Amino acid sequence: MSDIVLQEAPTTTDGVLALAHHPHYISAITGGKLSPECQKAIGFPWSLQMVERSRRATGATIAACRSALVEGVAVNLAGGTHHAHADRGEGFCIFNDGAVASLLMQAERRVQKVAIVDLDVHQGNGTASILANDDSVFTLSVHGENNYPFVKEQSDLDIGLPDDTGDVAYLSALASALNTMFSRCTPQLIVYLAGADVHENDRLGRLKLTMSGLAARDNAVFEAASQRGIAVAVTMGGGYGRDIDQTVGVHAQTIRIAARHARTLQHNLRGLVEKDKYQEHSC
Ligand SMILES: [Zn+2]
Repeated sequence: MSDIVLQEAPTTTDGVLALAHHPHYISAITGGKLSPECQKAIGFPWSLQMVERSRRATGATIAACRSALVEGVAVNLAGGTHHAHADRGEGFCIFNDGAVASLLMQAERRVQKVAIVDLDVHQGNGTASILANDDSVFTLSVHGENNYPFVKEQSDLDIGLPDDTGDVAYLSALASALNTMFSRCTPQLIVYLAGADVHENDRLGRLKLTMSGLAARDNAVFEAASQRGIAVAVTMGGGYGRDIDQTVGVHAQTIRIAARHARTLQHNLRGLVEKDKYQEHSC
């Protein structure tokens, strides 16, 4: 963990947010002009600090993507606000950091293809709706079928799991989902929503994963990415533990596992970059 560098989250401009959000929604959020119904759907009251926090949470995912494409892996200590749609927020989500960052990495010509691997216990409905007609960003959501949102959107691949799924069935479903995803897309970057709300003591999640199951989940994502030379930007997603220390423990475990994979991820990423250069010259 000694190689970890902590950076302050940068802000995000309206222009960048507009890659995934309608301008009228951005101005309603920033100017505090949301209708009471729209504010209620988000779940907390408007304030200047809320706007600033939302801009920076998105900025941190952008920064994590840029760093990951050099370092192999990077983590946003917030983000994963996957219920935010293009024109509205809901479920404590205001701006969709994963969608904004993915589209910006493409606009900056850092990558062509991105996969959003959403392993939060809730479906990434906002992400699915924003990117529904975009073949260059693959959306995978593995979630509790009986969890919020009760009306689901269609991701490129949705795996809705039953209550009390547990480690063994979850990890089997995840392995299958990752195989299917990689048979359908070849991303250069994965935005990984490592939600802590699949943990067995979460108040909202229903899937009942243990800490060792969660470690296996994280390892599965990092190993799959590493084998293919793909950078990984991690975002937190949700966590509503009966004991807050357990939620923190799940997130901390993800960061420890990310750090363990960092060297291999960076090495394999560089290998791929070198190979691409060679192929460019050889054409
Ligand atoms: Zn969640």
